[in-house]
Amino acid sequence: MRKLILSAILVLVLSGCFPQRQSTTLTPPSPQTAPSPQTASLPNCVNSDCNCSDFATQEEAQAVLNAFPNDPHKLDGNSDGVACESLPRRTNETISEASPQPQVNSDSVHLKLGNLSNAGTSDLNNYLLEKPQFVMSYNCAKGIPNWVSWQLNTTWLGDIDRQDDFRPDPDLPSGCYAVRPNDYRGSGYDRGHMTPSGDRTKSEEVNSATFVMSNMIPQAPENNREVWRELEQYSRELVEQGKELYIIAGGEGSKGKLAEGKVNIPQTTWKVVVVMDEPTITADTRVIAVQMPNDESVARTDWQDYRVSVDDIEAATGYDFLSNFPQDIQTKIESEVDNQ
Ligand code: MN
Ligand code: MN
Repeated sequence: MRKLILSAILVLVLSGCFPQRQSTTLTPPSPQTAPSPQTASLPNCVNSDCNCSDFATQEEAQAVLNAFPNDPHKLDGNSDGVACESLPRRTNETISEASPQPQVNSDSVHLKLGNLSNAGTSDLNNYLLEKPQFVMSYNCAKGIPNWVSWQLNTTWLGDIDRQDDFRPDPDLPSGCYAVRPNDYRGSGYDRGHMTPSGDRTKSEEVNSATFVMSNMIPQAPENNREVWRELEQYSRELVEQGKELYIIAGGEGSKGKLAEGKVNIPQTTWKVVVVMDEPTITADTRVIAVQMPNDESVARTDWQDYRVSVDDIEAATGYDFLSNFPQDIQTKIESEVDNQ
């Protein structure tokens, strides 16, 4: 009996001891080990290799640096104790300055064709996000845009190189998960631009704007790098020929999820390109619409193989394209399949 009491006391003493010893340890757990209770709330990247683009705000990066004072992720390049100085800070001041509330009745040039899902600021899954460079309806539950709409003419084109600064979008509303570049890591899917980097080459600023993760969907490499890219290139050729384009793109359906369910992988990618050679749309305006499988079956095919009518995409998505234009014009040009 005495032995039992003694060992019970020993267990109590020991269990009181070990956590104390651990909390006085100076070296944090190595990034390769499973997260300890203290680091469980930190971003997943602490288990692989965080970099500044994994964080939406400076405060998030600071939390990782605080948990790993030896800075194994090199978040504090100038060793001043402040992580990732270039990231936005989530103070009240910067939220009101950096994230103006989008206006529903937008006069953005990028919405010339219309707001095809009646996106606004109340529904987080049909959230109107307006940027100077493009406008989108974002879907917080899916972690991807429903659609992205943009103007393309020579004023957007120059010779700036890809900035490649993939990063979470700091302009998403609170309550909306901001997808991180690493959420796509190891998935086999590309971080596929909707508004292409190549459509925004006038300045570093406009090019960098296309690298927010809200402008990305998971795209199969054969789709993104081949047929999808070839249509992007063809569109820029049309601009070089003097046309002005209005383009809307998105993904439809679901073939799975990335990042523990936070990012939907669309089954198909679709795009509508309205080719204007005069300021308004007429019954003769050329419209290119495509819908392509988001998989390897598109390898070594042509984008022209996937042409459909706008009506087909309206049926697949439930959106109303070209809603800013008279119904008789919509009826005609939405029913035709481009064959030029
Ligand atoms: Mn791409
Ligand atoms: Mn329509």
